[in-house]
Amino acid sequence: MASLSTTSGTTAFGADIKDLTRIERIGAHSHIHGLGLDEQLEPKASAQGMVGQLKARKAAGVILRMIKAGKIAGRSILMAGAPGTGKTAIAMGMAQELGTDVPFTMLASSEIFSMEISKTEALTQAFRRSIGIRIKEETELIEGEVVEIQVDRSVTGTGSKTGKLTLKTTDMETIYDLGTKMIDALNKEKVAAGDVITIDKSTGRITKLGRSHLYARDYDATGAETTFVKCPEGELQKRREVVHTVSLHEIDVINSRTQGFLALFSGDTGEIKPEVRDQINQKVTEWREEGKADIVPGVLFIDEVHMLDIECFSFLNRALEDDFAPVVIMASNRGHARIRGTNYRSPHGVPIDLLDRVLIISTSPYNEDEIRQILRIRCDEEDVAITEEAHELLTRIGGDASLRYAMQLITAANLVARKRKSDKVDTVDVQRVYNLFLDEKRSIQYVREHQDEFMF
Ligand code: ATP
Repeated sequence: MASLSTTSGTTAFGADIKDLTRIERIGAHSHIHGLGLDEQLEPKASAQGMVGQLKARKAAGVILRMIKAGKIAGRSILMAGAPGTGKTAIAMGMAQELGTDVPFTMLASSEIFSMEISKTEALTQAFRRSIGIRIKEETELIEGEVVEIQVDRSVTGTGSKTGKLTLKTTDMETIYDLGTKMIDALNKEKVAAGDVITIDKSTGRITKLGRSHLYARDYDATGAETTFVKCPEGELQKRREVVHTVSLHEIDVINSRTQGFLALFSGDTGEIKPEVRDQINQKVTEWREEGKADIVPGVLFIDEVHMLDIECFSFLNRALEDDFAPVVIMASNRGHARIRGTNYRSPHGVPIDLLDRVLIISTSPYNEDEIRQILRIRCDEEDVAITEEAHELLTRIGGDASLRYAMQLITAANLVARKRKSDKVDTVDVQRVYNLFLDEKRSIQYVREHQDEFMF
């Protein structure tokens, strides 16, 4: 590894969520635009596509605030609740509310068993995708680039005054020097707020003073009390800094000799050597110490966590203690379940030692009114017009069968309505698809009645 490189510009974080393999799952949550909380983290009954589930949404909001404050890296949360109670929806809501440079990665536990790489490598990659490295790079000024230095001076009781210096030079010494001269000029009360000062680079003399009479009197009255709140150096520093955020995984791939950065596009990154990762960790730690980089712990959402086996759980236990650990949100819809790879049963299918270190958020089933509202939002989302009666029928089905089943009937009922040349779904359409497609309960019933006809 000759030098450590990073991709510049935009990050691939957005792509993580929009991954092709996940289009179907994401589609189901396309109506979710956030957690629907107010400033005090109080959940609104219905906002940003979110309905009900108030306690869980509030808890998610608290966690989100801690993530944003950088306070809970390496912690894990378990969302526990029956199927279709909004665990994934809440995680998606959290993802929407994280800043664009905070990574959010989604992993369905079963996926790691089907990859070409080992389970622990798949988990390591998911972990490292969820850690952002915000790299600050100093850019050289380009010859002829216009540099503006803004100096604010606050005047006690009368607001602030700004001097602006515009010049073309790449020489920092000259810029600082001229900046200081401008401050002097402001001190000597030669300029007033909003004035544009142009300083001759070669002579260092102020050659132009545009006067703004608007604030001049205020300034004159209290001139003696002025202080500068921004120094030109500070301003220049900002202009010289370019910040971009990449994930730790992206840095791994780019610096892996066997993979190369093209692997980022194919997605087939294969296994990455531990030595490469060690070197990168070391480099990133150095960057952090030198003030060149910040670590941005993101979120790794592991759905169907009960599908992981004991090896994966012990990996998780260890990985959560790493310096570079993201916030891990797990979801399980199991009650007491056997832990894969063992004969032990445990709540939510998660080993007790891991359970002991997670914060648990539970989700509860929806009432009829909430189901009605969610179905309304979904119809709007899918651009499906529906009569009041059909909406009521769908709500009943949602309560009797499941919310997810009722949601799936929307598209199908719309197709059936179109077939009979109607642009509005009516009860006949819902009845039709209800009879065409069995829900879970009726399917079990059917299997029971026709047991003998199935293969053993
Ligand atoms: P499972 O355990 O089966 O994975 P889940 O708890 O993750 O289920 P979701 O997939 O989040 O359930 O919810 C099922 C559907 O209902 C999704 O389309 C989701 O967007 C929607 N949904 C669930 N809860 C809400 C809610 N509170 N507000 C709006 N939509 C919701």
